[in-house]
Amino acid sequence: MARDYKIEDYRNFGIMAHIDAGKTTTTERILFYTGKSHKIGEVHDGAATMDWMAQEQERGITITSAATTTFWEGRDGKKRRFNIIDTPGHVDFTIEVERSLRVLDGAIALLDANAGVEPQTETVWRQADKYQVPRMIFVNKMDKTGADFFRCVEMIKSRLGARPIVVQLPIGAETELKGVIDLIEMKALVWRDENLGAQWDILDIPADMLAQAEEYREAMVEAAVELDEGAMERYLEGEMPSNDEIRKLIRKGTCDVWFTPVLCGSAFKNKGVQPLLDAVVDFLPSPVEVKPIKGIDPKNEAEVVRKSSDDEPLSMLAFKIMNDPFVGSLTFARIYSGVLTKGTSLQNTVKEKKERIGRMLQMHSNSREDIEEAYAGDIVALAGLKDTTTGDTLCDPLKPVILERMEFPDPVIEIAIEPKTKADQEKMGLALNRLAAEDPSFRVKTDEESGQTIIAGMGELHLDILVDRMKREFKVEANIGAPQVAYRETITRMAEVDYTHKKQTGGTGQFARVKMTFEPAEIGEGFSFESKIVGGAVPKEYIPGVQ
Ligand code: GDP
Repeated sequence: MARDYKIEDYRNFGIMAHIDAGKTTTTERILFYTGKSHKIGEVHDGAATMDWMAQEQERGITITSAATTTFWEGRDGKKRRFNIIDTPGHVDFTIEVERSLRVLDGAIALLDANAGVEPQTETVWRQADKYQVPRMIFVNKMDKTGADFFRCVEMIKSRLGARPIVVQLPIGAETELKGVIDLIEMKALVWRDENLGAQWDILDIPADMLAQAEEYREAMVEAAVELDEGAMERYLEGEMPSNDEIRKLIRKGTCDVWFTPVLCGSAFKNKGVQPLLDAVVDFLPSPVEVKPIKGIDPKNEAEVVRKSSDDEPLSMLAFKIMNDPFVGSLTFARIYSGVLTKGTSLQNTVKEKKERIGRMLQMHSNSREDIEEAYAGDIVALAGLKDTTTGDTLCDPLKPVILERMEFPDPVIEIAIEPKTKADQEKMGLALNRLAAEDPSFRVKTDEESGQTIIAGMGELHLDILVDRMKREFKVEANIGAPQVAYRETITRMAEVDYTHKKQTGGTGQFARVKMTFEPAEIGEGFSFESKIVGGAVPKEYIPGVQ
């Protein structure tokens, strides 16, 4: 067996966005144009698609972090292998975003052209900064009333603190959106409406936009040549770099997380998606262009570096466990190095357990493909693992390594849960074990005083969803108590407390501010109070420095 695609031709990327910016729609369009999904709308209604959990559809949020493999031919006519890693967009699940950010090499951040940079855009952006993820921005919904591309570009600077490099301009906006100008090729791409945007015409730039396009092209080229002294010198002497050279420089600047290419369109109106896919090929890194993953040797704690290569010992990171309606429990893992063959025994170095790979799958938008072998750079779904949970390393037992550990914050909220009947009690035990194994930010304990079972998680919505899953998937009926803050603070000497709790949600913080006034007489040794979490999302006034 050999690999079908060279590792240089892989793109492992995610799409991140504030809820409602159009992540589902864009993913759906990508799968449509890459030929894996046969009709638009399919992403929503099959179990075999990314958003396969019933709750997600009902609640309109993406909770799971699966991966879908698809293929796209770049402008050079060569096919690339895309693994699209789903990143959830709700603030309560930032922990899941971190997990997926850990295993992807690049990302597309979506903006709603009307809303611009939104709170969750900022949160995921900061998380991506933490892992130095190369990014592009797609200003979506250019067809919407109030869409403003240039305001979005300003917000990318002012709100995200990023350096945008504008590589496309919209042709028209709102109902007049026709297509985009490719500032590298200096051509207008105008989509035909009649066939779901599958075809477009490459035309001259409309005369009334030429001056603006030239101005933006100049800014783009200046930002690009800054990355290469030779190119800069030649440019200053009046020599324009070739279009391929410009693309190469933009690729370098993007992969080095120096700047962020900005593209635009409307996923819903089928405008701009194909050039976005070309840009994934052109600008986002392959697995060999990102820093090799580091780990430690569990025997002596020595640092181990694993290059993205089939010739290195096998190492992979489990990043998501989910229940597939047809296959059962699946562990999604990214192979960083080496080759994985079906039937192999692996070492889980975190749990110190052996695991055997029974069935190995690659997930496409509308099919599951059984595979015999997988290679460095691949994302695979493994069936039949017993002890592996999110964040664990699986590797060659003879060359053990523990790859960068993922850190999971302590839960911030807890509720008591009581099974309705004896039969429910047994099922609840199983269900809770299962859910806690899938989701490291979910914990289960027994209250010492009351003997009740307490479940703890990252927010009310997080716990809501888990209770809902218990009902649906495990048929457990239970009574739920009121949500409580999952910890206590002890105050000793303050008369007035204005206290900002930082709830560690994977490093970016979810905040709750509680302001309380105490009578001095009340304050004594060991006086304790319970604070209240304010809201699920993070209101501005709870973010330090923003009042
Ligand atoms: P998600 O929450 O980010 O996954 O967003 P969805 O893809 O579910 O989109 C949220 C809403 O915005 C849906 O009603 C979509 O039909 C709509 N939408 C998505 N993309 C566009 C777009 O390009 N233009 C317009 N006008 N609406 C869009």
